[in-house]
Amino acid sequence: MVAVLVIPDGAAESVLPTSLESAHTPVLDELAAGGEVARVAVTPAHLPAGSETGIPALLGHVADEPISRGRVDAAAYGVPVPAGFTPWRADVLRLNGGRATPQESAIAARALGPHAIWTRGHRLVLLAPAGAAPAARVLGGLDGLRIRVWPDGDVLPRTLGLATAVIAGPGAAAGCARLLGADVLVPETASGDVGTDLAAKARAARAAIIRGAVRIVVHVGGPDEAAHRRDAHAKRSALEALDAELLAPLRDAVRNAGGTLAVCPDHLTDPATGAHGGGPVPALRWGTGIAAAGPDRLTERATSASPVHAPDWPLAGAPAPVESNA
Ligand SMILES: [Zn+2]
Repeated sequence: MVAVLVIPDGAAESVLPTSLESAHTPVLDELAAGGEVARVAVTPAHLPAGSETGIPALLGHVADEPISRGRVDAAAYGVPVPAGFTPWRADVLRLNGGRATPQESAIAARALGPHAIWTRGHRLVLLAPAGAAPAARVLGGLDGLRIRVWPDGDVLPRTLGLATAVIAGPGAAAGCARLLGADVLVPETASGDVGTDLAAKARAARAAIIRGAVRIVVHVGGPDEAAHRRDAHAKRSALEALDAELLAPLRDAVRNAGGTLAVCPDHLTDPATGAHGGGPVPALRWGTGIAAAGPDRLTERATSASPVHAPDWPLAGAPAPVESNA
């Protein structure tokens, strides 16, 4: 029986009314009414909120220490790491904290030299000899730009095999899934941002169902990217597109295959601040063998008193909550 999990990146929020509440999502509402709705602790208390924490947790690996985002991004964008070097994730930012454009970021990478690789948007991977952390700095000669370097961390272990298919745009989800050993598919027309080709992801998921994949994870980055740009309207639109162009065909494919469909964000991202948050997120499971239970909408307000499950709940269906909010 196939289990499909859709991860709308950063879809959850802590300030009411939330994007999940205000977006028009008839398919999500149908799945919530007919399935089991609860909450999932995607961000353990000892880890930072982010995709490098939440996506491995949803795929069954809760890390002891923060995960190296540099390793994840190197795997995501195919950056070769020479022996004796460590990859570090860095952002090209304006002095006011906003993201630099892709053009500015590519120029910044060239200015930093051959060990700075521009990957996408404002993102760089910096290769540094082991033990020598690259420093945050203001870029001389590039007016108003600075480099922020993410902390190093643990490397994700290879815990998955090809029975888990992960369909994602170019970005952290693909990087995490590659390091974990899953079968990773990045459709050519997937952007990792709003306006991505959701139909291509739905087609890839249907093909994986037909191939006999046991677990299929579809990651959608748009909600998080819109929230980082502090664009609440774009975040709602990204959720509405996900509903119509991805969840509708997946609901039909999963019903035909007699499997289960789950929806669970990997963390919170507040469109007012553009910042990640680490509380529990609303999640649902729907399909064969799952009776309707819990609230009938997938929103933070509806699930505010729902049990909080371990992160493997939506895929594995572990019955026991780790904590009750009763
Ligand atoms: Zn984010």
